[in-house]
Amino acid sequence: MYPPSFKLLVPQSLDEALKMLAEHGGEAKLLAGGHSLIPLMKLRLARPAYVIYLGKLKELSYIREEGDTIRVGALTTHSEIESSELLRERCPLLAETASKIGDRQVRNMGTIGGSIAHADPAADYPAALVALEAEVVLKSVNGERAVKVSDFIKGPYITDIDPQELITEIRIPVVNGAVGSSYEKLVFRASDFAIVGVAALIVLGKDGTAERVRVGMTGVAEGPVRAQGVEEELEGKKITEEDIDKASKKASEGLNPPSDIRASSEYRKAMAEALTRRALIKALSEAKKKA
Ligand SMILES: Cc1cc2nc3c(=O)[nH]c(=O)nc-3n(C[C@H](O)[C@H](O)[C@H](O)COP(=O)(O)OP(=O)(O)OC[C@H]3O[C@@H](n4cnc5c(N)ncnc54)[C@H](O)[C@@H]3O)c2cc1C
Repeated sequence: MYPPSFKLLVPQSLDEALKMLAEHGGEAKLLAGGHSLIPLMKLRLARPAYVIYLGKLKELSYIREEGDTIRVGALTTHSEIESSELLRERCPLLAETASKIGDRQVRNMGTIGGSIAHADPAADYPAALVALEAEVVLKSVNGERAVKVSDFIKGPYITDIDPQELITEIRIPVVNGAVGSSYEKLVFRASDFAIVGVAALIVLGKDGTAERVRVGMTGVAEGPVRAQGVEEELEGKKITEEDIDKASKKASEGLNPPSDIRASSEYRKAMAEALTRRALIKALSEAKKKA
C-alpha cells in the first residue's frame, strides 16, 4: 500500500530543520528511521503534507558522557545504543533495553528520538528511561527545554511536544557506585513489542543497604510508570529474595492495565509482578558484585 502523496524536505543541518518546522509545523511530520511513521502513513493514519527527513543530521547521532550526564542524540539508532561501549559500562540498562527491541533490521533503522516521540504504549525505552529518571530535550526556533520522560509521555501516542519542536537528545543522570540493573520483557512474538516490560535499577551503599531502587514499567498503563510501592518497600533495606518476593506484589498496585488481543488486564498484572521480581533479582545480584 502506498502512502498519500507528500512533499519531502531534506534539511542539511539542525537549524535548517527547525526553520522548516517553524514554517510547516502543523502540516509536517519528521522522519527518522521510519519504522513507525511509514506504516502509519501507509494505513492513512497519518497524512502529512510535508515529510522532513532527518537522516542527514549526523550532529544528532552521538553518545557521550559530560560531567554527571550521559547524552544520547535523538538520531542514535537502537543498534548503536545496544553496542555502545560507553553505555555498556556506564548505563547498561539502556544498552540492554535497546538489545531487546524488535529484530536486527528494526534496531538498525529505528532511533531513540523516534521511539520516544512515537510514544507507543508497548515501546521498551520508556520503562528504562523512567527508571533512569531521564529527560527529553526539545528544540525549536524559539529555544530549548528539557522535560522528564515521565512527564513527556502523556498517554498512548500522546506527548508534550509542540508541532514546531524536535527532540534533539535524551539526557540520563549518571549513576555511580554499586549499581545493578536489568530489563525484563514479555514479548508479543509477531512484532517483538513488549506486552509488559520492567526495568529495575538498584544502588547499594557501602554497608549493602539499598540506597536507591527504581522500577519502570511499560505495557501496564497508558504510558510508562514507576512502581513506587515496590521502590518504597525496598529502599533502605539490606534486600533479600524474600523482600523482593513481597515487594514485587506491589508492582501493579493502583494500576488498571488495558486488555487487548495480546493480553488481558489480569495477565498483565501477573506479568508485571513476575517480571519485577526477575528484574530486581538480577539487578541485586549485579549490584552486590560491585559492592
Ligand atoms: C516490525 C517492528 C518491530 C518493532 N519492535 C519494537 C519493539 O520490540 N520495541 C520497541 O520499543 N519498538 C519496536 N518497534 C518500533 C521501533 O523501535 C521504531 O524504530 C520506533 O518506534 C520509531 O523510531 P523511528 O526512528 O523509526 O521513528 P519514525 O518512524 O521515523 O518516527 C516515529 C514518530 O516520531 C517522530 N519523530 C521521529 N524523530 C523525531 C525527533 N527527533 N523529534 C521529534 N519527533 C520525531 C515522527 O514524526 C513520527 O511521528 C518495532 C517496529 C517495527 C516496524
